[in-house]
Amino acid sequence: MTATASTPSEHFDAVIVGAGFAGMYMLHCLRKLGFSARVLEAGSDVGGTWYWNRYPGARCDIESLQYSYSFSEELDQEWEWTEKYAPQPEILAYANHVADRFDLRRDIRFDTRVTTLAFDEAAKRWNVETDTGERCSARFCIMAVGCLSAANHPRFEGFENYRGEVLHTGEWPHEPVDFSGKRVAIIGTGSSAIQSIPVIAGQAAALTVFQRTPNYAVPAWNAPLDPERVRAFKADYPGFRAKARSRPTGFYFPYNTRPALDSTPEERRRQYEESWARGGLPFLGAFGDLLFDKAANDTAAEFAREKIRERVDDAETAELLCPDNVFGCKRLCVDTGYYETYNRDHVRLVDVSERPIEGFTASGVVAHGVEYPADTVIFATGFAAMTGSFDRIRITGRNGLTLSEKWRAGPQNYLGLAVAGFPNFFTVTGPGSPSVLANMLPSIEQHVDWITDCMAHMRDIGAQTIDAQESHEADWVGHVADVASISLRSTCSSWYVGANIPGRPRVFMPYIGGFPVYVQKCNEVMAAGFEGFVLDARSPEPPRVRLTERWQTALDPDVLSPADIAAGRIPIV
Ligand code: FAD
Ligand code: NAP
Repeated sequence: MTATASTPSEHFDAVIVGAGFAGMYMLHCLRKLGFSARVLEAGSDVGGTWYWNRYPGARCDIESLQYSYSFSEELDQEWEWTEKYAPQPEILAYANHVADRFDLRRDIRFDTRVTTLAFDEAAKRWNVETDTGERCSARFCIMAVGCLSAANHPRFEGFENYRGEVLHTGEWPHEPVDFSGKRVAIIGTGSSAIQSIPVIAGQAAALTVFQRTPNYAVPAWNAPLDPERVRAFKADYPGFRAKARSRPTGFYFPYNTRPALDSTPEERRRQYEESWARGGLPFLGAFGDLLFDKAANDTAAEFAREKIRERVDDAETAELLCPDNVFGCKRLCVDTGYYETYNRDHVRLVDVSERPIEGFTASGVVAHGVEYPADTVIFATGFAAMTGSFDRIRITGRNGLTLSEKWRAGPQNYLGLAVAGFPNFFTVTGPGSPSVLANMLPSIEQHVDWITDCMAHMRDIGAQTIDAQESHEADWVGHVADVASISLRSTCSSWYVGANIPGRPRVFMPYIGGFPVYVQKCNEVMAAGFEGFVLDARSPEPPRVRLTERWQTALDPDVLSPADIAAGRIPIV
């Protein structure tokens, strides 16, 4: 039979949507176990986040020795990171190296955006449609679409009249952008803006920053990697990886579990200074209660504001840059010279917190009735986080139910891995899993290993479909909300709760109960024969553990006491 417009021309065991770190590793694992798979990727090459976010200053905020795959000891040994926090080109080079080394590209279709996914109940297969017209079908559909991959383009009055250049940090051009002599405007002051502003200010003739909400940033103290540290890691990489896995954040750093308010003001200052000197996200490990006790948090917030006031010369600008919300409630930013940039004469901060940006003219941005001329406007306005890339695909499960209908009031799924009513459909680092609250690389690997073991088990026992049970899904969604409510993290307007996009439901989306606690739950579900799932075949034998073996690590007793776990008070960055 020849393929027609409505007939899938190719059939696979699995279709994987997305070729970032998640999709790449998923493909590698499925191949290893003899499954056929096709990856469909909207971009022209691998790397996901690191393919799209090429803005100046982009780099990781978890040290590269830990923000990297752990599945291959050879890869760990052969790859050389050059800096503590690798810049975007180096992380993209790493992704390319992995693609070459494991010969991934032959099963990836680039420049291909998935538009429709529909479950055919009779055939028990997913039918896939793309914007290139290519169609295929697969027994399993694995969403590796990324938590921060759907760029947010807020609408502004008169935008269509603007004649200058428009860029988005998350969709940055591939050729270098030269800002020399240009008047640049940047909208947003999140992590992407905080990384790019100092670099752009170094080139541009004038830089105007439109700030709706100030953010806390802790210095990265980025530097070339100390060869001694690299040697120590490489001498026992599996040991370091295991230590990281047992931590609530999936990466390792010194953590002080003592409550901030149990210390004297002098002790607190000493601890904060020490943590500040360490820099970056680990600053949140200064005390154990910073994200649970507002009074404790206030001490960290005040310390961070003092640092801003020290770093910014103009008192009025410094005050505008001082956040007054919970410290670490929005994703903590990690900076290199961000605040000092405002000491430069050609850099100006425009506060749009009380009165939003009014709109665009042909030649610039208008706020408070003033036109700020700009040759280039940069949207550093973030992403429709966690669910945005799902919303952009029409996904239909059993009985014609679409995922966007099911998730209208917020994401509903089981373990952040599967959605009831959508059989054989898995989400890598989906909402309801630790994902963005942990080091994303182990989060990805743990999900991929679990999914692969699940598929292999189904093959072992002759099962064709697996679907989450609604009751277990509801319990999980409730648990995700319960642990979120214990943390101060759930109290502010952040992308974690969808607050950055008008009209989105306010639901705390990632799982804040801690990476190893979550992993243990996934292990238990598997050991119990995929408890909470309906399979169309069952076996009395427990599933054979293949790839998930390495996730059977104990919780780190130094930071996770049984009492804290029981109370849901898991220290996390
Ligand atoms: P992504 O890398 O987002 O890849 C998803 C891919 O799916 C994309 O290439 C996209 O084009 C594709 N896709 C989406 N929809 C479709 C469709 N319909 N059809 C076809 N293809 C589709 N995390 C950390 O842990 N540490 C960090 O330091 C860190 N830094 C970050 C810096 C930036 C600037 C950003 C934006 C995020 C950062 N993150 C960080 C989070 C980062 O997204 C993850 O670490 C990781 O790279 C995600 O990999 P992924 O494969 O899950 O998703
Ligand atoms: P973001 O944190 O969501 O920041 C977007 C910024 O745009 C915010 O300041 C937001 O203000 C502002 N904004 C949005 N719409 C606006 C509007 N209509 N008018 C004025 N301002 C508007 O996005 P991001 O900076 O791209 O970062 C997203 C996430 O990606 C980070 O939190 C982090 O997880 C990851 N990331 C990591 C790094 C890293 O250091 N490795 C770098 C970049 C990104 P409000 O705060 O008021 O909404």
